[in-house]
Amino acid sequence: MAKAEGRVLLPPTVEPVKYDIKLKPDLVNFTFDGSEKIRLDIQEATDEIALHVKEIAIKNHTIVLKAGSTEVKPEAVTYSIKDATVTFKFEEMLPVGEAELELEFFGLLNDQMAGFYRSGYKDITGASKIMASTQFESLDARRAFPCWDEPGRKAVFGLTLVVDTGLTALSNMPEKHRCYLDGGAKMEVAFMDSPKMSTYLLAFIVGEFDFIQAQTSHGVLVRVFAPPGRSKDGQFPLEVAVKALDGYDDYFGLPYPLPKLDMIAIPEFAAGAMENWGLVTYREVDLLIAEGASRKQMQRVCIVVTHELAHQWFGNLVTMNWWDDLWLNEGFASWCENYMAHEIFPDFAMWDQFTSDTQAAAMRLDSLRSSHPIQVPIKHAEEVEEVFDAISYCKGASVIKMAHAYLGADAFRSGLQAYMQKHKYSNTETSDLWAAWSTASGCKVNELMASWTEQMGYPLVTVKSFNGSEVELEQSWFLADGSEVKKEEEKIWKIPIICKGQKPVLMEAKTQKISVPKSDFLLINAGRQVPMRVLYSDETYSQLATAIQKGQLSVSDKAGLVLDSFALAKSGHLGADKVFKLIASFRSERNFIVWDAISQALTGFDTVLMAGVSDPTYAAFKAFVSKLIADAAKEVGWEKKASDGHLDGLLRETLINMQSKYSVDPEAMAEAKRRFDAFMAGDASLLPDDIKEPVFKMALKSGGKKEYQALRNLQAKATTNIERKHVYVTIGHTADIALKKDVLDWVVSGDIKIQDFFYPMGSVAASSKEAAALTWDYYKSHFDRIWSMCKTASPSLMDAMISLSARGFSTAEAAAEVEQFYKEHPLKQNQRTISQLLEGIRTNAAFLNRILKTPVIEESFWKSL
Ligand SMILES: [Zn+2]
Repeated sequence: MAKAEGRVLLPPTVEPVKYDIKLKPDLVNFTFDGSEKIRLDIQEATDEIALHVKEIAIKNHTIVLKAGSTEVKPEAVTYSIKDATVTFKFEEMLPVGEAELELEFFGLLNDQMAGFYRSGYKDITGASKIMASTQFESLDARRAFPCWDEPGRKAVFGLTLVVDTGLTALSNMPEKHRCYLDGGAKMEVAFMDSPKMSTYLLAFIVGEFDFIQAQTSHGVLVRVFAPPGRSKDGQFPLEVAVKALDGYDDYFGLPYPLPKLDMIAIPEFAAGAMENWGLVTYREVDLLIAEGASRKQMQRVCIVVTHELAHQWFGNLVTMNWWDDLWLNEGFASWCENYMAHEIFPDFAMWDQFTSDTQAAAMRLDSLRSSHPIQVPIKHAEEVEEVFDAISYCKGASVIKMAHAYLGADAFRSGLQAYMQKHKYSNTETSDLWAAWSTASGCKVNELMASWTEQMGYPLVTVKSFNGSEVELEQSWFLADGSEVKKEEEKIWKIPIICKGQKPVLMEAKTQKISVPKSDFLLINAGRQVPMRVLYSDETYSQLATAIQKGQLSVSDKAGLVLDSFALAKSGHLGADKVFKLIASFRSERNFIVWDAISQALTGFDTVLMAGVSDPTYAAFKAFVSKLIADAAKEVGWEKKASDGHLDGLLRETLINMQSKYSVDPEAMAEAKRRFDAFMAGDASLLPDDIKEPVFKMALKSGGKKEYQALRNLQAKATTNIERKHVYVTIGHTADIALKKDVLDWVVSGDIKIQDFFYPMGSVAASSKEAAALTWDYYKSHFDRIWSMCKTASPSLMDAMISLSARGFSTAEAAAEVEQFYKEHPLKQNQRTISQLLEGIRTNAAFLNRILKTPVIEESFWKSL
């Protein structure tokens, strides 16, 4: 194998120019026949051609290389299972210039949600059906046809599918022509040639679907495909896509280059969605919106659609050269999803939600020593699977948001447009984007960004002194566990210090004095533009508390203050008692985003308090939360109001969810039970999707076998994945330990699709201290079974199992046990998740020890709040 910059790549001697692929899937025997012609550009004389191939058998006698009028066959065909390659060795040197490689092959329609794979589903009459679709990112185009399966090897794709007449066949491009074979039983559908693009973006699908369509005002046909009978559930995503596609045309300054955009729900899908150019595939719950869907669900679908459509430019038109720069695709699309959702639905307040959602997720993970820099060297393509994580997506988006704030919206956009124009249909590295922004803004963007993308972690900025007009700041590496940063580990970031009323000032040294506008209070990082934490002095905290009372802080700033305070308590910089005092001051808060941040902080406290404080202290904590939310919960109520905005709907769900977790209020329990019973008796009006999950949890907690069985029956009869998911994520909250065990048996039974099978396990583990221990024991004793179920599917499924099976552990002993288990059961592809899990448990253990030394453990403390 050739090695460039330490990367394992196919040799650069031969480049693919155009693939013509014909595939005949067999949906009964789960196989496919294929043939392909690849037009090649032989750039250096060679006697070998190497391609990627996996789980495919090439028919050796069909391999022919044509150059001019000569035809040669390879003298040897060698497979490398390890590298997933096949090498054709020819007797003589192949001359430089154009050539054509032809071959036939045979493959399997697997059930692993990768490559060309099959999904099972039930149609509206209840009949079992099979459809076939593709998922190629990152390394699975090679499971469907032999190819140069690297993002930098862009080529044109011409595809033909031979399928049963009556089925729908789709690909990236519109159909070019079709003809009928076998007396009309089969049809051959040929698609128009694709633009030049990477292999991982090719897609094709065969099955039965209904669709709805619309046209953008710029003239692109947009269609949403759904299982037969459900096309109306595509209306909301269709509207979002039409607006987003026009919006991105304008924003990027380049029109969407394909004649159509299809979006389709796939019954079995490992990720949330995949941005295949012109044929975007989705997990069903992330695309279709049935009548009565919750606000949360609608927002989620909007975000996933705007994310995938951003990729049609950022990723598809301009693509990373190699997987090192995956973050550029994902971070950027994650920034764009918020940008475009905000354009379409300003009332979603996505940039405020960013603080408690995307940025919070980035900062949680990136405060661990087992995190990684945004830009990671990837030698072997397989390693890329490990970086589809919150660092690439959420920290990536967070540093792009920072760049936007620092450069200004105009320079940010014009740099981006220049970048798109210059690199369309080709490949880039991160430095290409920095160069475009530098030219547009006159700033040294590379210097600013390198400290954020090339080193892991983020800074804690401590206020050392403040005299009303000048502040002295010190930066250090923020670590979740508060462990000591050794001299040789110290890092420096270039931090835009943003205070209201002045331009960002760059902090470049360990300590720096900065002038700030005169104000009654000091707020560093106004608008939460920068992923960093700020530690104030006691005096500045009390000024901030007053500012909150006076309504002088923005929603983002309030949410950020709560999240910072919690993280600083965890790391030992701030007493837990002070954080509870701060949280107690939000009783009259009515904004969803602030409550979301409070809810996250309380969940963090709950995990360790449940594991390690006395029963009376834990009960006092729960009583405090019950009281904290009481006024807001009463005001927001259970019923949708005519005056409700988007965030009010989300707030209702959050508050009822908090009640389901902490409340001991018999009235709330009775109300939940009343609604649950009415719903089960056939009256759905009392239980809209917004509050279904917390109500299910409350009914399970206060009920018994009857409620449990009712939900299992509901799942069995459900016709949509979202209905099933409501049950999966709540069912473990049954109070009965035998029923919790029954849930775990269900997880490994094979009756739940592996795309979903981690949800019920997670719900058991989260339900109580005893249930967490039960889950871990069960996971250990059924490990072989669980591993065999998902070992050849995306590693993200096993990652979810690993994280959820030890959910809620907060002691050093638990960490040691989990560590020992994975020593005995090493999982190479999930190593990073295991390290992060262990560090998370140990950080919680240290947190608990800190809490035990604060007044929080005394009953009098809770009475004082
Ligand atoms: Zn993406």
